[in-house]
Amino acid sequence: MENENLLAIAREFGSPVYVYDSSKIISQYNRLSNAFNNVKQLKLNYAVKALSNLTILKLMNSLGAGLDTVSIQEVNLGLKAGVKPSNIIFTPNGVSLEEIEKVSALGVQINIDNLSILEQFGTKHPNTPVCIRINPHVMAGGNSKISVGHIDSKFGISIHQIPHILRIVENTGMSINGVHMHTGSDILDVDVFLYASEILFETAKNFKNLDFIDFGSGFKVPYKPGDIETNIEEFGKKLTKRFNAFCKEYGKEITLGFEPGKFLVSESGHFLAKVNVIKQTTSTVFASIDTGFNHLIRPMFYNSHHEIINVSNPKGKERFYSVVGYICETDTFARNRRISEIIEGDTIAFKNAGAYCFSMSSNYNSRYRPPEVLWHEGKAHLIRKRETFEDLIRNQVDIAVSFSKETESVSS
Ligand SMILES: *Cc1c(COP(=O)(O)O)cnc(C)c1O
Repeated sequence: MENENLLAIAREFGSPVYVYDSSKIISQYNRLSNAFNNVKQLKLNYAVKALSNLTILKLMNSLGAGLDTVSIQEVNLGLKAGVKPSNIIFTPNGVSLEEIEKVSALGVQINIDNLSILEQFGTKHPNTPVCIRINPHVMAGGNSKISVGHIDSKFGISIHQIPHILRIVENTGMSINGVHMHTGSDILDVDVFLYASEILFETAKNFKNLDFIDFGSGFKVPYKPGDIETNIEEFGKKLTKRFNAFCKEYGKEITLGFEPGKFLVSESGHFLAKVNVIKQTTSTVFASIDTGFNHLIRPMFYNSHHEIINVSNPKGKERFYSVVGYICETDTFARNRRISEIIEGDTIAFKNAGAYCFSMSSNYNSRYRPPEVLWHEGKAHLIRKRETFEDLIRNQVDIAVSFSKETESVSS
């Protein structure tokens, strides 16, 4: 998106505001599907938790994507966006049997990631085929907050427990129609992914009625110049070859599935904020903006780097800034960052603000969550309004108790 478009959006919808460029989402979707165009049956299930606005879900649906969901509420959002239940997979962790049964009753594919629920679900619903989530014990990336396939991870059923899975399947008479893994959000290395895939292929051979193998996600996108990016085209070639060979060996054409979140939406997003205060201290220059980790938590939570551009003055002299929020708590977005000279009132933009940004926002400090805008075919469309005071108090219950009485009786 051009700087002028971003500035016009900040003027029209106020600040702070999230903006998503539909053309970037579409091109990422096409890039991923093209990388696998030699696979007979490919299914891309968009991970709703990355960005769950209904309009985004509708866009995904129009592209032919299914949805990957982690709560019954995400399933209901998908259904509301017009996605067919058969195009949704439910991949929760640690949720109740009751929630899994409710989602299953909607006609959604269930993915189970522990032996306890597998046994209970299989006993009660032996005729509902389920997918199982495997933990291949592969360490992806170096950050334990986002590596979910390693030995200490809470996700998935250990590959060492396959004999127990097979016993449960036999005892209950249930059927396994898919095997799944999701090793984390930062797979740097195509070879690590391919290594984990081999473990999944080995696992798959234990089950005779598979319809699909789901390789999860973990595609990396660049957040700053020089970042390593998953080479999707190379990965597509290598995995396609291996997958097609597997299907031959298995004796059936099955579906190859992925669940990309970040890959599809991260780069589509900009988060716009206004600079309230420039504060020169003895050690740095702070630029305080009209938002905080209540609206964008990734820098504080994951130590994520988001590029920041001064859209009001993109070509100015560069200076060093610490960009901080307005929350009464340390909320640093960037330390000692080179940015084109900022004056109070300027609008700055965070890049890569499509994935895990709005969807992780909160009302901390009793601030309103920002609006969301879709930039589509040269026009800005408001797809979520800014919250109001009404939203803050909507569910608060004003109880009919007078707190002043006691004080009165004490004083009298
Ligand atoms: C979060 C999640 C994804 C999406 O991961 P990205 O890194 O955003 O692509 C996919 N599958 C499951 C099960 C997830 O929990």
